[in-house]
Amino acid sequence: MKTTDSKNGLLKIENLQVEYITDDARVFAVNGLNLEIEKGETLGLVGETGAGKTTTALSVMRLLPPKVGRVIGGSILLDGIDIIHAGEADMRALRGSLVSMIFQDPMTSLNPVLTIGDQIAEVLIFHDRYNNRTDVNRRVDEILRLVGLSPERKNEYPHQFSGGMKQRVVIAIALACEPKLLLADEPTTALDVTIQAQVLEMMKELQEKLHTAVILITHDLGVVAQTCNRVAIMYAGEIIETGTVDRIFHAKRHHPYTEGLFGSIPDLTKKTRRLNPIDGLMPDPSNLPAGCKFHTRCPKCIDICRTIHPRSSVRDGHSIRCHLEGEGGVPVAGETAGGEQT
Ligand code: SF4
Repeated sequence: MKTTDSKNGLLKIENLQVEYITDDARVFAVNGLNLEIEKGETLGLVGETGAGKTTTALSVMRLLPPKVGRVIGGSILLDGIDIIHAGEADMRALRGSLVSMIFQDPMTSLNPVLTIGDQIAEVLIFHDRYNNRTDVNRRVDEILRLVGLSPERKNEYPHQFSGGMKQRVVIAIALACEPKLLLADEPTTALDVTIQAQVLEMMKELQEKLHTAVILITHDLGVVAQTCNRVAIMYAGEIIETGTVDRIFHAKRHHPYTEGLFGSIPDLTKKTRRLNPIDGLMPDPSNLPAGCKFHTRCPKCIDICRTIHPRSSVRDGHSIRCHLEGEGGVPVAGETAGGEQT
């Protein structure tokens, strides 16, 4: 397994490009994505459906659908390990122990014919964490208590639990071996609002207790405000803005897409007849526009946006990929100054 020094952080993704090949088209799902996460940090990855959020997470897990999805460029370093070039046996050892993923729908994540206790024990046994079944059982009880479930229910099957409880079981499986990185793909989307708040609170407590770094994939800015340290906004397969939660929610300057996202959230303190949604739709990922990928929907579009791909410029750790931000910012490492012609 190829490793390099990881002192700069836990996960470093540089210029990641991922495509899907279908019968009719070549779909460019992730296009030159750069992302970093520090140990113990929570990063909210926000964007519309089809922005490439889940594809990014699946690339880190090396779980892209075989023969259809593939990484065509860039690098992913996780705790110093080169994920793209790691062998399949190494990846099996890393999944669950170094990095885990919580999928959107707990109904399809759990095996309906195994008890929840057996499903948690399976991860511990696979990763050789304990010498005997007594220790495994003790750890299963411990992890169930940690996610707020009674160990007495470990011999029950998934259908005997409510949606919120099933998601707690999924989280228990993901955290059983205390991974350094947890990829949570819209973990509360299938839950009602009350249960959603409970599950998010529990995830936050566990993260603080276990010092796990979390990438929380969501399209809900409210969830991000409650749970994250940093935010990355994704559009058409690339990060268009990143910053601390405070910067993203309170800074004066934003990417026009981020402005659109905030403009479409109802504000209970203001009297408005209509919300202000972003016009148009995300571009077809098999036929992306030249220049800035947001230019077909951007109210601030200028001539250069139609032909030149903007670079990200950074001020005080707040990065924005827009031609209007060029002055005063510095290019992100690895990107060409002045943007790229597309
Ligand atoms: Fe809008 Fe141009 Fe900025 Fe893209 S680069 S977000 S089109 S102003």
